[in-house]
Amino acid sequence: MYSDLLANLNPEQREAVTLPPVNQHGQAQSALILAGAGSGKTRVLTTRIAWLIQTGQVSPIGVLAVTFTNKAAKEMMLRLSAMLPINTRGMWIGTFHGLCNRLLRAHHKEAGLPSTFQILDTQDQLSAIKRLLKGLKVDDEKYPPKQLQYFIAHAKERGQRARELSVGDDFQAKMAQLYEAYDEQCQREGVVDFAELLLRSYELLKHNEAIRTHYQERFRHILIDEFQDTNALQYAWLKLLSGHDASRINVSSAGSSAVFAVGDDDQSIYAFRGADVENMRLYEQQYHPMMVKLEQNYRSHGHILDTANYLISNNTDRLGKNLRTDAGHGEPVRIFDAPSDHAEAAWLVDEIKALVNSGIKRTEIALLYRSNAQSRIIEHALFSAAIPYRVYGGLRFFERAEIKHALAYLRLLENPNDDTSFSRVVNFPTRGIGARSIEAVQDAARAQNSSLYLAASTLDGKAGASLGGFVRLVDHMREATRHNTLPETVEFVIQNSGLIQHYLSEREGQDRVENLQELINAATAFIAEEGYGQDATAATLPGENAPGIVEVSPLAAFLSHASLEAGDNQAQAGQDAVQLMTVHSAKGLEFTSVFITGLEEGLFPHENSVNEQNGLEEERRLMYVAITRAKERLYLSHTQSRMLHGQVRYNMPSRFLEELPSDSLKWLTPKVKDARWGGGNSYGNAGRSGSTWQDGYTRQRDSETNDFFDSGSDRQRPAKQLGRVGSASTTVTRMAAPPRGNY
Ligand code: ATP
Ligand code: MG
Repeated sequence: MYSDLLANLNPEQREAVTLPPVNQHGQAQSALILAGAGSGKTRVLTTRIAWLIQTGQVSPIGVLAVTFTNKAAKEMMLRLSAMLPINTRGMWIGTFHGLCNRLLRAHHKEAGLPSTFQILDTQDQLSAIKRLLKGLKVDDEKYPPKQLQYFIAHAKERGQRARELSVGDDFQAKMAQLYEAYDEQCQREGVVDFAELLLRSYELLKHNEAIRTHYQERFRHILIDEFQDTNALQYAWLKLLSGHDASRINVSSAGSSAVFAVGDDDQSIYAFRGADVENMRLYEQQYHPMMVKLEQNYRSHGHILDTANYLISNNTDRLGKNLRTDAGHGEPVRIFDAPSDHAEAAWLVDEIKALVNSGIKRTEIALLYRSNAQSRIIEHALFSAAIPYRVYGGLRFFERAEIKHALAYLRLLENPNDDTSFSRVVNFPTRGIGARSIEAVQDAARAQNSSLYLAASTLDGKAGASLGGFVRLVDHMREATRHNTLPETVEFVIQNSGLIQHYLSEREGQDRVENLQELINAATAFIAEEGYGQDATAATLPGENAPGIVEVSPLAAFLSHASLEAGDNQAQAGQDAVQLMTVHSAKGLEFTSVFITGLEEGLFPHENSVNEQNGLEEERRLMYVAITRAKERLYLSHTQSRMLHGQVRYNMPSRFLEELPSDSLKWLTPKVKDARWGGGNSYGNAGRSGSTWQDGYTRQRDSETNDFFDSGSDRQRPAKQLGRVGSASTTVTRMAAPPRGNY
């Protein structure tokens, strides 16, 4: 009986699930469930589908449900089949992209696509754009492919074709022209990019009345999770499908559908991709939904929830709501102040081991960070401690494309005959070496039975000239770095290969630039750990080297290290592994224990956001999302010094730490005070010498709470601070040579 479905819900949830989908005039009645994190929105949405089906108000084929990720869609189908004896396979539950793809597959002819149309991912799309520019002989310095890609995506997200754009100047006119040419190329080749999936299916519904009416009549119930992160085109798509498009007469001749939207304005974190929380307000005005607020949180213990509530109350632009829990206070939120990023990682490893020993599964432990570049040091520490881990929603550090490109250049310095590396970067970043030149060099190499590198120097003509340029570049980099330290070599190569410049011009290239700079840090750390880079006279005494042992260059050793770390210890899907992810990709998920690392000004909140109110509020929402992922244990950590973007930075602790309720916190290290907060500057231990976590303290465990604590009481050091007063983050040292010891 359906009452079973409702048995596991509280009264507000039950009210939300059973809201009447028609009003007293017999018209579709929409709903908005506005509620904070962990209040059961996703559960309510899923149960609503089951309830509608079980009470005979709709059949499974009459439901369309939108989730934020494919994983969430799968979970929803699993839950549904546990609740109802139905086959969920054919149901229209998926992401916007997934559902649009399905619509276009079913009506490819009407949409003007071949039945076999292929989807371009972001990388494929970029290659397609480059090819287009080359074919049209367009100067790609003047019209950078990445910029064109952004231009196209942005226009499509607003529902605009090239012809509909109003162009302000010659540059924009040219971009619009290229956008049109790009669309024509895609059409010719039978491919669609992500934004095109949505726009094409929007246009299909808009212009084809028969199809529109069919789906409007079919989907009488449309349900959307994470509504706060929909963009303009998605909202327009929804309005069309639900028969609410006021801009067209007769569009709702089929009558309108009941939309059931659930969301949390405090968790809107995708504005940078065009998501607009304003859609929630528009929805209220245009759909007059019945509103239900859920205020009971089922996920997190009291202290965690108080922390989240307290933090988010600092935002001004809110629709307003609060959360309570019956779960009791639970454990306090633990805060750890680490002297360095390495110490932070070492502490994480210790805590994770302790949690696992206490019976918590590794998959129930999440390590969250604001920027991808932060994962490297954490990954390394986990790897060294043989703790299986999985990087979620992103590649592991050494597998990322930009890192592989940089490593390919480095490999060519070491071994020019490495054809794989040669092929990877011969034309990356683009340097006008076309497919024909590459074919020519491959033929020549085959004929001469030599490597591509050697064959390149034997070619003449245009191919010879362009390939010769690449060979000279690599030779030059090798010569120029002959006497450099490893980190200097890495830095020289990422600069002179053009990789940094290339990614700087990309729409979302900042993360990749940070990762490349992180590679310099990796080299620095590697040198320190392996004992390279010590003064040769001091390090080796005459006759100390055992005969027969070939000295491997630091670069060669580093490259093997990178391959091993990339290929090894990869947690298998389903293996019990610690979960690593950015805060963005943690949305909607929950874990028993959560660590939020790198809580420093400039990092979290991110430095790009702190100067504008909107940016800062979005960062705070991101922090709110992070905190509310935790069920039982939450750990926050920040470091006094961190290698970031190739520099050691002494960051101030994140302002968010000051926005938390002190009653819910437990400092594992003496509480950080900061001049900015009027507490005097007693922040200790910023230097890399002196006491550090690794060498300065005896760690002990509190037998009751199982927490580590410092036994060193001299942790507070008189302020010999660099860059702690005044600016949020001051660069102190430019790392050119690896530091000695203690790093
Ligand atoms: P988020 O905003 O993070 O997406 P949410 O509002 O969608 O969160 P859910 O993920 O649906 O919340 O629920 C959070 C947790 O609380 C889940 O583990 C869910 O099973 C549990 N839960 C929800 N409602 C109840 C209830 N009435 N009784 C017991 N557990 C519940
Ligand atoms: Mg949810």
